[in-house]
Amino acid sequence: MPHTALPRLADLENASEFTARHIGPDAADEARMLAAIGPASRRALIDAIIPRAIARPTPMELPAPLSEAQALAELKALAAQNRVLTSHLGCGYFGTLTPGVILRNVLENPAWYTAYTPYQAEISQGRMEALVNFQTMVTDLTGMAIANASMLDEATAAAEAMTLAARVGKSKATRFVVAHDVLPQSLEVIRTRAKPLGITVDQVHATEIAASLAAAPAFGVLLQYPGVNGQLRDLKPIIDAAHAAGAMAIVGADLLALTLLVSPGELGADIAFGSTQRFGMPMGAGGPHAAYLATQDAFKRSLPGRLVGVSVDSHGAPAYRLALQTREQHIRREKATSNICTAQVLPAVVASLYAVYHGPAGLKRIAQRVAVLTAILAEGLKAMGWRLLHDTAFDTLHVEAGERRDALMAAAVASGRNLRAASADTLGISLDETSTRADVEALWAVFAQGNVTPTIAQYADTVTPMIPAALQRTSDYLTHPVFNTHHSETEMLRYIRMLSDKDLALDRSMIPLGSCTMKLNATSEMIPITWPEFAHIHPFAPAEQLAGYAALNTQLTGWLAQATGYSGISLQPNAGSQGEYAGLLAIMGWHASRGDAHRKVCLIPESAHGTNPASAQMAGMQVVVVKCEAGGNVDLDDLRAKCGKHAADLAAIMITYPSTYGVFEPQVRTLCEIVHAHGGRVYVDGANMNALVGLAAPGEFGGDVSHLNLHKTFCIPHGGGGPGVGPVCVVEDLVPFLPGHATAGEKRAGGVGAVSAAPLGNAAVLPISWMYIRMMGADGLKSATEIAILSANYIAARLADHYDIHFSGGIDGVKGGGVAHECILDLRPLKDSSGVSAEDVAKRLIDYGFHAPTLSFPVAGTLMVEPTESEPLAELDRFCDAMIAIRGEIAQVESGAWPREDNPLKNAPHTAASLLANDWTHAYARETAAYPVASLRRGKYWSPVGRVDNVHGDRNLFCSCLPVGDYAGE
Ligand SMILES: *Cc1c(COP(=O)(O)O)cnc(C)c1O
Repeated sequence: MPHTALPRLADLENASEFTARHIGPDAADEARMLAAIGPASRRALIDAIIPRAIARPTPMELPAPLSEAQALAELKALAAQNRVLTSHLGCGYFGTLTPGVILRNVLENPAWYTAYTPYQAEISQGRMEALVNFQTMVTDLTGMAIANASMLDEATAAAEAMTLAARVGKSKATRFVVAHDVLPQSLEVIRTRAKPLGITVDQVHATEIAASLAAAPAFGVLLQYPGVNGQLRDLKPIIDAAHAAGAMAIVGADLLALTLLVSPGELGADIAFGSTQRFGMPMGAGGPHAAYLATQDAFKRSLPGRLVGVSVDSHGAPAYRLALQTREQHIRREKATSNICTAQVLPAVVASLYAVYHGPAGLKRIAQRVAVLTAILAEGLKAMGWRLLHDTAFDTLHVEAGERRDALMAAAVASGRNLRAASADTLGISLDETSTRADVEALWAVFAQGNVTPTIAQYADTVTPMIPAALQRTSDYLTHPVFNTHHSETEMLRYIRMLSDKDLALDRSMIPLGSCTMKLNATSEMIPITWPEFAHIHPFAPAEQLAGYAALNTQLTGWLAQATGYSGISLQPNAGSQGEYAGLLAIMGWHASRGDAHRKVCLIPESAHGTNPASAQMAGMQVVVVKCEAGGNVDLDDLRAKCGKHAADLAAIMITYPSTYGVFEPQVRTLCEIVHAHGGRVYVDGANMNALVGLAAPGEFGGDVSHLNLHKTFCIPHGGGGPGVGPVCVVEDLVPFLPGHATAGEKRAGGVGAVSAAPLGNAAVLPISWMYIRMMGADGLKSATEIAILSANYIAARLADHYDIHFSGGIDGVKGGGVAHECILDLRPLKDSSGVSAEDVAKRLIDYGFHAPTLSFPVAGTLMVEPTESEPLAELDRFCDAMIAIRGEIAQVESGAWPREDNPLKNAPHTAASLLANDWTHAYARETAAYPVASLRRGKYWSPVGRVDNVHGDRNLFCSCLPVGDYAGE
């Protein structure tokens, strides 16, 4: 036998192995795809498509890529720089025990985290049931009539509550009163929001609010329940005084406390808001967590955010759908009441399942245990001679510490715990679900200072309750069977599985949604988010304990700066919409700093995503629409005219690049120059960065500000509609105007306040993007962009003979004309020839096992397809085959073989039950309905409901759990 030498070690060490796992097509696939499109090489395709004028001159400077194992090890070392102490900091963030069955089967399960926002109702019934449970949980506990399906965090929910009150209240006053004991981060975000809207915010001691309202009118009053320092007061007299003075009453309430306390609804509140974090979502240095917003029935049509409602399907069975203002930014644009788009669906699902699992009795027991431990802690402290500033409490005590405050805090840290500096000479101590007898004893030891410490046994049986009798809750909550059934782990596991089985997420098929970049969310990227070093740390822990997050922030913003060409980046905004808002505030702050506060005009092309005008409105700007040409580019003549007309007041233009039509405007540099010449700044919406990373950088081709969507381009999963991260990126002279965070001790010279509750926003999901960039490196990221463009062009090329490709570049030698990373299929001509609508095609795709592309955005009657680099060629082909087969079906309608009103497209999606019905009266075979292509026989996704009736749902708005008898077949 000849001796075969082994390969050289260096040849076996493939540092970019992850790139090949992230990117679907391999070299052979790429050759086949190019052959279908035309250009001889990837280089030639990209050169034909990316305008020379914007191509970046130098590659990104990123560290060389690591393998998955190496990257995890490097990140672990970063995580280890965080010091996780037991938190008694409270202030809206509490320790919680995520039930294992929820941790593993929801939070760490791609069936849940890779799902998209439930715009396609039929394939989203599972997560919408969970969200209806969330809404019911919130309305029950708060005693309000209606709640939405999550807000970004408690502080932004507080700000939205303020603007809701301003909209629906009768008062014309511009003054808003906030109680002295509101969470400081909520007050900070409220102040940021209030300023551009001309609202004056006054902080007033709760006991003086009635007098203050009598002296000066206000449109709203915001109270915290319990207060930040733990005090419980009867809010009813204050709420009554507010109403008597014509003001709306808003209550920020802790849901766990509400299991024991009279609810805000019973106290007469008009709006309630708060966080659901302590229902199973780790503190995660500030997020992601679902906040809630609830209100009275009369104001339901003004509620911001998404609301899940119950409707019926085509067979008359109940079915869930997003109700009312679902895409209100797209419909109402600058008249939209809020810019919130991506919310916090995954954390909301976790919180709702926490309530399902524990049930009302379980939640009450958890809350009572916290209340009893807190009362015991109080007794012991008092016995040792400490004075408490109030004798009411649920979970938080306020201790007079005098000059010993700092020494006590240091002693606490030495014993592995953090106390909150409530004022110069007082301390806050909060307990939570994770607190134990040992914690109470350890806290006593901190305060003992040499004295004899009490023992739990002294108080365990005789403790005096600290919840005043008048505030003790007597009303029921969570009485629906869903909260009273799944309490064994077996039942819970099956309930979770039953829900996720109804849904179509990325773990089953491609989700070709234009503008949303539904790419791989690699497991290695997801693993770190539940590491204790990242998950169990309080956002306001001392800075030295958060060193790991600080390092993560520095590295990630540095890498994103390389990708975007910007100088300064804040990771604080917790969705793209919030990044837009923060970016516009930066522009407004800059103008104001130069004495140009009157510059308020924001130019927005008609093609813009709806959040753009909505954010501009929130930033107090005046939106002026700029036309687009027939080819989809911004009309530069109209731009010049509008710039000229508004030259004195021009603040900014907001463009998306490549545009939402999926085209690279060759003139973008000229566009930026025109706006700059008129004194405006250029905002480039970075939601389409997946077409740019490594090839072009907005900060280099004329942009002054951009936001990124880390939940699109940088691999954070969509979670069924959040969490997201929307970093705001700016050029050098705007860096001082990035958001600050005074509560966390971060001030910026420009004075733009906080836009999120926590300084790093949804901090706990940042490791996902860190992992992605660390494993891809500069070449890998560039390849990803190129393959994303290649894949979109492949789809355009394959479908060009069957559908009209709207807005292509018209490039010679590129079949399909050349598109960016997505392409728009124009179905309007087919509507005329066959009566089949874009929606019918979207629903028929469900029968073929696909999530529909983006429907009717940015152009009504079209489908926008974005394949991303992660989809393998086989999946791209399966999708193209489905679209071509559907075109054949449309032809059958055109030819009259199938009636216009009775064909597989109009009746899609087909449920198993409808196909098994005894009489089948349709003009096409059951087989045609269920198995239009042979590959479906190997495995098929069955839609759990028929087509959902949108009109019925809005007419008969119902947004909580269905009465049991209403379920289909029961
Ligand atoms: C997704 C998107 C946004 C909004 O981002 P969210 O994270 O959903 O708030 C803004 N602009 C464009 C073009 C988008 O595609």
